[in-house]
Order: sequence, then C-alpha cells, then structure tokens
Amino acid sequence: MNEEFSTLLAEVKEQILYLHELGAENLAVDLPEIDDSKFNVKSSKPETQVQKSERFVPAEFLKIAVPVKPSSLNAEANSARRSILESTKLSRLPSLPKRSAPPNTNFSNNQTPRETKEMPIKNTEEMPSLFGDIVQTLPDANETIEDIRLDIGNCTRCPLWEGRTKIVHTTGNFSADLLFVGEAPGANEDAEGVPFVGKAGQLLNKIIESIGLKREQVLVGNVNRCRPPQNRTPTLAEAHTCRPFLMREIAVVRPKMIVVLGNTATQNLLDTKIGITKLRGEFQDYYGIKVMPTFHPAYLLRDPTKKRETWEDMKKVRDFLNQS
Ligand code: URA
Repeated sequence: MNEEFSTLLAEVKEQILYLHELGAENLAVDLPEIDDSKFNVKSSKPETQVQKSERFVPAEFLKIAVPVKPSSLNAEANSARRSILESTKLSRLPSLPKRSAPPNTNFSNNQTPRETKEMPIKNTEEMPSLFGDIVQTLPDANETIEDIRLDIGNCTRCPLWEGRTKIVHTTGNFSADLLFVGEAPGANEDAEGVPFVGKAGQLLNKIIESIGLKREQVLVGNVNRCRPPQNRTPTLAEAHTCRPFLMREIAVVRPKMIVVLGNTATQNLLDTKIGITKLRGEFQDYYGIKVMPTFHPAYLLRDPTKKRETWEDMKKVRDFLNQS
C-alpha cells in the first residue's frame, strides 16, 4: 500500500513538473515537497539548483511556452517567411544594422507583444532633478524586422484578425529617418496588405513629397495592422495588443522622427488622452525620438482647409531632419 502510494505521488509530481514545462497557465499549485525517502521512491532524478530555480516560470513566459512539434514549427515559420518575402517583394529581409543606443534594462526583446512592457511616456511636467535626469530611451534591439514579422505570424491576438484579408505591416525603407504612423488599415490596405494605398494614402504621398522625399525613402505603418470592421476606431485593447510590434520596429529602425497621423494614432501611440488639435504642430517625445502629431490625410480630404496647418507641421519636420 505504502509503495503504491509512493509511486502514485511520484507520478503526480512528474506530471506537475511536466505541465509546468509545457507552460500550463494558472497552475497555482506549488510542487509538493515530497520526501521521497519516506516512501522508498527511487524514481525521479535529483534536480539541480538551476532546474529548481527554473521550475516556477513567471506568468509571462508561461504564455509563450506553447509546445509545438518541431516539424509544424518549421512549416509555420517557412510559410510566414514566404509570405513576408512576397509582401515585401524582397528576396531576403533586411537584417538591419543597429544604431547605437544608450543601454536600457527595462525591455526584453524576447517578450511576446502581449507581454511587452511599455514604459510610460515621459510626463511633460518638469521633474525635480533630485536624482539627475532620468531619460527614457528606446532599448537596444536584439532582433530584426524579420524576427518581428515571424513573431506576428498569422496573428489572432485580438479580435480584428477575424475580419481581415491581409495583415498590413509597416512598409518602406527600414533604414529611414522618417516614419509615418496611422491608425489602422482601411479596405484598400486590407485587400493589398500595404498601408496607405487608398485615397488617404495618395494624399500622404503628396505630403511626403512636399518635404522633398519620396514614399520609398520613408517608412509607413499603423498602430493596428488589421482592418477594423466597417473601419471603426480600434479599441484601446486592440491598439495596445498591436502597438508593441510597432514599438519593436521603431527600436530596430530608430528613425529620427515619427509623424503620427490623426487623433487615434496619436493617442494610441503616445498613450495620451489629449486631442490632436492640441498636440499637433508641437514636437512630442517617444522614448527619445521626436514625434510630430498632425492631422490624418483622411481628415484633410474631408476638410481641406486644415491642409495649411499640416503644411506648417511638415515644415518643422523637414527643418528638423535637415538639421540633424
Ligand atoms: N488610414 C490609416 O490610418 N491607415 C492606413 O493604412 C490607411 C488609412
């Protein structure tokens, strides 16, 4: 009886360990500290200190520790790779040279987007300099655009995946100094898998050209990569689910300037409730990168009188890029 019980306990212990290794979530039970010797259990190999310390994986790692058979993993990765190459029309994706950045310990590039910790935007109110300046800058990226695309994969992290035709990734020049960020794809973008290709996109191209650049020279993306049904505004949760991918791209590319288009994109990128009318025209900060909020081209199509203000904003962008 004693022996049966001890064998059973040992099996339970193995199973719990196995579940932890597989990444079982919400397994609130601690591994029972069984004194095997009491039950003459010969079994389970003695754990090393490292194994013991790794036994309780933090929740954020549990979420990504989904067991996948190696063969299906390869198939999935290869198909994702093929679709990236197709969508970017490149024979290989660029491995970007990293621009040097001050060391930052608040960011792990191994985190999946859901777990990506985002640092709050620096408050514009002056901080008393008790401890000197605390500058929040982007982390050094230990990954490539391709890594990020592979991580996005055939994303189903938020409900927007259900209505999409194509994921609309950031496109353009991944060594650009200038990044334009919109809200989310519309119907044309959803069909083509490319951001800003509809009427608003054509106006965006003109805005880019107005400061002496070509669309191919800049980078264009959105906070959300899937089209919301009926082009509704993405919810905060949807924006927060998708935004970390953009943040990781920004960390890889390190543009000198981000132009953020419209109210939703500005609020979702900068984590602010202040409206575009107040924010536009003034440089903001995104982890050490200058941000210029301006009106969305779709808004300019509805109210062309606002083009004047956008032009004023774009001149500031042009002058900053020319000086830096
Ligand atoms: N509007 C956006 O915000 N993004 C697009 O890609 C297209 C239209």
